[in-house]
Amino acid sequence: MAQCDGRTKKGERCRREPRAGSAFCSIHVDQEVRARSTRTAEWDRDSTLKAALGFALVGAILLFRFRR
Ligand SMILES: [Zn+2]
Repeated sequence: MAQCDGRTKKGERCRREPRAGSAFCSIHVDQEVRARSTRTAEWDRDSTLKAALGFALVGAILLFRFRR
């Protein structure tokens, strides 16, 4: 049987049933939102860094070509 992935205030695993389509019960649904937003922030930082590196590389190649 499914079990909520949330943690109680005592730090114990929650024993309630999760909501449909979720890994958390209605009490710990805020823990799910927090986990998701943290993951999104990390992804955004990573993709922004990669995009910046890509633009820097293209810029360096173009600069190198125009100089010759
Ligand atoms: Zn719970």
